[in-house]
Amino acid sequence: MRVVMKFGGSSVADGAKISHVAELVKKHLHGNQVVLVSSAMDGMTDHLIELAEMGLKGKESQVKDEIEKIRKRHSEAAESAIPVEAFRHGALSTVSTLLYDLERALNGISILRELSPRSKDYVLSFGERLLVPILRGALQARGVTSRDFSGGEAGIVSDENFGDARPLMNVTRMQVQKRLTPLLEEGIIPVIAGFTAVTQHGDIVTLGRGGSDNTATILGACLDADEVWIWTDVDGIMTADPKVVKNAKVIPQLSYAEASEMTVFGAKAMHPRALEPIIEPHIPVRIKNTFSPSAEGTLIGVDQQVSSGSVAKAVARVSDVGIVSVGGTGMVGLPGTAGRVFEVLGKQGVNILMISQSVSESNITMVVRRNSIQKAVNALEIGLLSKGEVKEVSYEDDVSIVALIGSAMRGTPGVAARVFKAIADAGINVIMIAQGSSELNISFAVNEKDGVEAVRALHDEFKLGS
Ligand code: ASP
Ligand code: MG
Repeated sequence: MRVVMKFGGSSVADGAKISHVAELVKKHLHGNQVVLVSSAMDGMTDHLIELAEMGLKGKESQVKDEIEKIRKRHSEAAESAIPVEAFRHGALSTVSTLLYDLERALNGISILRELSPRSKDYVLSFGERLLVPILRGALQARGVTSRDFSGGEAGIVSDENFGDARPLMNVTRMQVQKRLTPLLEEGIIPVIAGFTAVTQHGDIVTLGRGGSDNTATILGACLDADEVWIWTDVDGIMTADPKVVKNAKVIPQLSYAEASEMTVFGAKAMHPRALEPIIEPHIPVRIKNTFSPSAEGTLIGVDQQVSSGSVAKAVARVSDVGIVSVGGTGMVGLPGTAGRVFEVLGKQGVNILMISQSVSESNITMVVRRNSIQKAVNALEIGLLSKGEVKEVSYEDDVSIVALIGSAMRGTPGVAARVFKAIADAGINVIMIAQGSSELNISFAVNEKDGVEAVRALHDEFKLGS
């Protein structure tokens, strides 16, 4: 079997954990071709963002101190994870070379007092690039032959959208196959720095925060892998947030559509865009816990409509959101109003999570992130209110979205009735409702103070717990 395995930042946070990962990988090698993808050590990407900002402010000596901290963290990890001198030495010298490059880049930023998206991506790429030589060393020291690569070196070519680049799949496929297939055939384990790629001009870019998952699925698709495994620090995707619902349990199987829905609603196990490359070639993804490897985890990509006997799979909650409404009888029957509302918000970079419009057409209500409410309201007032297109713009900033997710509710009558009966029985007021025609979820907004209760009520009603 050919498997791409990705380890998240908490799985490689220090030397002991890197050793554990190397042992874990070694156990899975028998009869398998394995490609490894790693995130940076937990917290590294944030640390690098701070460094770039320090550089921008010209704080050169502080930057130097921080680089020393990064050196120390990685050297200690290498010391502990790579018990064989020669391999340890190899990793440490790569780390040193990389840190020299990082320091030069940050000095450049300090001198020019300029931090473009391009230079920021270059700086951020070091988190993952510093990690892979250490993981490689840890494997080599355990008798596993391996090579380390940045995303670009592995062949991942992307567009030039610095900070959130997307792969150019055709070239990427060609390059990745050319570079990695011969290694796999020889039994060598490629260890690839997640999150990073290269543009056609050779500039280093990143695939957006949490983008290592994407690296794994891109490689999975390009190498026609049998499976992609995402190793993380939870047992899988859960029926609800276990901090909120005591008897929440791991969902054993999800379809791609359900998993996409879950990631959009904030299931932390996976990046929302990561599923894209593997849906078409139909490569299954397993979410596994690095620290509890015998747990089954969640398997994504099974074609099943009803696998759990329940119409629903999970209940999600999104907090830190608010509602913005535009209204006025002037909107009734006037084509283009909705278009202008979304255009005005889109231009301001306000992301809309949920929309509803009543048939009377006198009101459009949208859910947006709390931190963009003010921007949204201002933009609508300037763009539409002042021109008289709408009569009023209002907002509420203390709501939560609650969503019941599961593809088996498609075409099943009575699910919405059960949802809203359970919510009503809990004495909770519903502010707004939306269901897309895909029928993969029923979402509604409630007051923030009722969000947790609403999740519990639905989790109970649909018997999702253990
Ligand atoms: N290190 C990057 C981040 O923290 C990418 C990743 O972890 O997937 O966003
Ligand atoms: Mg991370």
